[in-house]
Amino acid sequence: MIQNLHTHTTFCDGKDAPEEMVRGAIAAGCTSLGFSGHAPMEAPNDWVMDVSAIPRYRAEVERLREAYAGQLEIFLGLELDYWSPPPGDGWDYLIGSVHCVKKDGAELMVDYTAEDFCQNIATYYSGDCYAFAGDYYRLVGQAAERTGCQIVGHFDLITKFNEGDKLFDTAHPRYRQAALDALDALAAQDVIFEINTGAMSRGYRSAPYPAAWLLSAMRERGCRICITSDSHSAGTILHAFPQAAALAEACGYRETMVLTHEGFVPQPLAAYQGG
Ligand SMILES: [Zn+2]
Ligand SMILES: [Zn+2]
Repeated sequence: MIQNLHTHTTFCDGKDAPEEMVRGAIAAGCTSLGFSGHAPMEAPNDWVMDVSAIPRYRAEVERLREAYAGQLEIFLGLELDYWSPPPGDGWDYLIGSVHCVKKDGAELMVDYTAEDFCQNIATYYSGDCYAFAGDYYRLVGQAAERTGCQIVGHFDLITKFNEGDKLFDTAHPRYRQAALDALDALAAQDVIFEINTGAMSRGYRSAPYPAAWLLSAMRERGCRICITSDSHSAGTILHAFPQAAALAEACGYRETMVLTHEGFVPQPLAAYQGG
C-alpha cells in the first residue's frame, strides 16, 4: 500500500480542491489517500476549516470515496490542533498536532514565519528559545490525550525555521529534555508518530520531522511510525517518501503503519523505498 494520510485542501489552507488531490495521488502512484483538513478552532482563522464547512467537507470526501472506488482508497480524517474543540464521531482517523502555544493571553504560532517565531520568543520569553520549547513540548506530550488522535503530527514542528540550528541548538540539554519528556508521555499511550515531509516540499527543511535523534529515541521506546507528506497541493502527495523511509531504516525501523478498514497495520518500509 502506498498511502499518505496527511493532506490539506482548499477547505482549509491547501492550494487544491479535494478532487485535484485525488487525481494527483493517483498520478503519483498512491493506492490510498487520507484527507486531514485542519479542524475548526474556537476562534475562526485563515488556516482551519470553519465549523459551517464541515458537512460539505465530509460530503465531498464521501463523494470522492465512491467516485474513485477501485482506483484509490480514501479515508476521512481531521488534523486537530491541541486547542481544537472535540470533533465528534464519524472520522476514520485523527491527527493531533500543536501549532500554537498560549502565553500571557496571547496565541503564539509555532510555524507561521521565522520572523513571527523570533518576535514571539523575544516578546514573550525574553529571547529564551528553550523556555518556549519547554511550553511547546508540554503541549505535545498531552496532545494525544487531549485530542484523542491516533497519529501525533510533526512532533518537532518547533524546528521548522531552525535548519542548521540557526535559531537554537537542538543538542542543548534543555531542548533535548523537553522533547524527550513529551516523547515519554506519548510513548506510554501507544500512538503513531508521523515522519512528515511537509517542510521539505515547502522549502523550509532538508529533512523530515522528526529529527533523526528523536526518531532513534522513538525506536528505542518501541513507538510506531507512519510516513506522511502534510501535502497542501496535488503535486506533493508523496514528496520525499523514499528519503523518509531511508531515514526510518537508518534509525532502526523496518515497518511503517498504514490505515486499513480493519485499523492500522504494519507494512514493510520497503514499499516506500522504490523496491
Ligand atoms: Zn499541522
Ligand atoms: Zn497538516
